[in-house]
Amino acid sequence: MCYYTYSDYLKNKYGRKVYKLPVNLPVTCPNRLEGDKGCDFCAEQGTGFEAVKSSVSVTEQLRSARAVIEKKYHAHKFIAYFQNYTNTFLSLDEFERYMTEAARVSDVIELSISTRPDCIREDYLKVLQYIQKVYGLEITVELGLQTVNYHTLRLFHRGHTLAEYIDAVRQIQEYEFEICTHVILNLPGDTDEDAVETAKILSALKIQTVKLHSLYIAKHTRLCEAYENGTITICSKDEYIKRLILFLEFLAPDIAVERLFSRIPKEDSVFSNWGMSWWKLKDEVTDKMKEKDTYQGKNFHYLAGAALKKLKGEEGFGIT
Ligand code: SF4
Repeated sequence: MCYYTYSDYLKNKYGRKVYKLPVNLPVTCPNRLEGDKGCDFCAEQGTGFEAVKSSVSVTEQLRSARAVIEKKYHAHKFIAYFQNYTNTFLSLDEFERYMTEAARVSDVIELSISTRPDCIREDYLKVLQYIQKVYGLEITVELGLQTVNYHTLRLFHRGHTLAEYIDAVRQIQEYEFEICTHVILNLPGDTDEDAVETAKILSALKIQTVKLHSLYIAKHTRLCEAYENGTITICSKDEYIKRLILFLEFLAPDIAVERLFSRIPKEDSVFSNWGMSWWKLKDEVTDKMKEKDTYQGKNFHYLAGAALKKLKGEEGFGIT
């Protein structure tokens, strides 16, 4: 493979097939309060387009998702994935209750919690640390960053900047939990240079996984209005693939890549993946990478004092 896939990463980590089971909690997002529509691309239902009702208990959601996944993929160990909205935007008690309930479900070996960079706090991390210790689970925190370009973050009303992301990563790393970061590579206004800088910052911060998204236009969003009145345009498929390959070339080879394209049901969007299926697009990317003889990390040589390599006789200089 031309890039380090998430499925390989899980096999390396657990030595077996492990699948994510989505859990939908009754939670919202600080960016969606008081009638605010949140980030311009955020749909009414967040990212939980096919999610089970949040009134269904965590145990029941995990049980029913397991029944489907186990039959289809023959996996017997699972990650409880709190996907939708901002899962640390619950009271501490509620957060602890839901996390504990998931941790008690048999064959759940990891909790993966999606949240925003400005919703990471020590007391919530301590809850996760306690659960990890008592139930022997792995913990991953998934942070929505989308881009390191703080001008673009402001433009799309993300409600945080790059600094909050770096702060969140540093806090989480103190607990040695794993970090997944969500990135949209083709936000209007961003360039190839922003994609490269995003890859460099994630690599420098030594996160474990990245989830890449191609920008979709969900119905009833600010982005949808802008798209329909022509204020914004979306780059072409070829431009996206070029940028994606560039991103991968600069990404550290040990950061696993969870996906390359977004997924949204057709009925919920006015634009998604240039009208193509994500698996065909994925094949196109890998074919192109093979044709170009390139791979993830090909240009990963910019950290750890890279410029010192230019010193004549570097090895014998006795640099301390
Ligand atoms: S942070 Fe996530 S849930 Fe909150 S408004 Fe943005 S996309 Fe929606």
